[in-house]
Amino acid sequence: MIKVETDGGSGFCFGVVNAIRKAEMELRADSELYCLGDIVHNSREVARLEGIGLKTITHGQMAGMRRKRVLLRAHGEPPATYLTAERNGICVIDATCPVVLKLQKKIRRAFLDMDAGREQIVIFGKTGHAEVNGLVGQTDGRAVVIESVADLGLIDFGKNICLFSQTTMSVNDFRSIVSAIEERAKGIRFKFYDTVCRQVANRIPDIIRFAAGHDLILFVAGEKSSNGRVLLDECRKANGNTYLIADAEGIDVGWLTGVERVGVCGATSTPKWLMEEVAERVRSLCVFGGRMSL
Ligand code: SF4
Repeated sequence: MIKVETDGGSGFCFGVVNAIRKAEMELRADSELYCLGDIVHNSREVARLEGIGLKTITHGQMAGMRRKRVLLRAHGEPPATYLTAERNGICVIDATCPVVLKLQKKIRRAFLDMDAGREQIVIFGKTGHAEVNGLVGQTDGRAVVIESVADLGLIDFGKNICLFSQTTMSVNDFRSIVSAIEERAKGIRFKFYDTVCRQVANRIPDIIRFAAGHDLILFVAGEKSSNGRVLLDECRKANGNTYLIADAEGIDVGWLTGVERVGVCGATSTPKWLMEEVAERVRSLCVFGGRMSL
């Protein structure tokens, strides 16, 4: 008989919980509410909130709006977004995660304190990711973004370096970046700040144990989830029989052949209800499969 278990440690982090609670609270007070970008990198949760009235807009759409209520999600925004809101009489409901807010302030301070001719700010993160755009905005667009060691050529090694990380990157990858920069940074000052959010990093040992304790892992996350990629990689290292799915529709019944223990887990942007839906689908597939022995 197949045993299906959902990982109790997976699911929304407090930053995402806070943003979603704010959206639900605001929607109860007034049904017209806009969110700048997807509130969370999970299309099913976005659809659920859109079902109760939340409307997702782009920066271009916001620039053309007047006197509306716009929620800023946990990822945070660059200063330019707040200026647009002020200019357009938009009421901002700021759901930026406190961890991201603190990082934005730290980068802003470092930028204002530095001598631009001799120093540079480098951010280890995904180019174009909403959080990274918000961080780069703190440096008036001047920070250098690197995604991996392969991007070190973007750094000017003739200038001092001040390195930060996007909150959802892997701690190990950050350490590798630090070592690679240290090797090349000769005769300059290199300061680095490990600003990876522990809401993601602290989950790694537990998710490795969870993955190793099952025959099959169904990792539920949106394609755009940055922390999802980090946690998925760890699951794959611990258990080669790991599959990424967006929801229950993604399950391939063939995966269930010969397995005894199925584990369902996900990212900090994966709702618990969605993981439960996946677990339920596995159970029903097993019943229809006649054994539980498909
Ligand atoms: S992962 Fe960390 S920084 Fe990002 S929203 Fe969650 S709590 Fe905030």
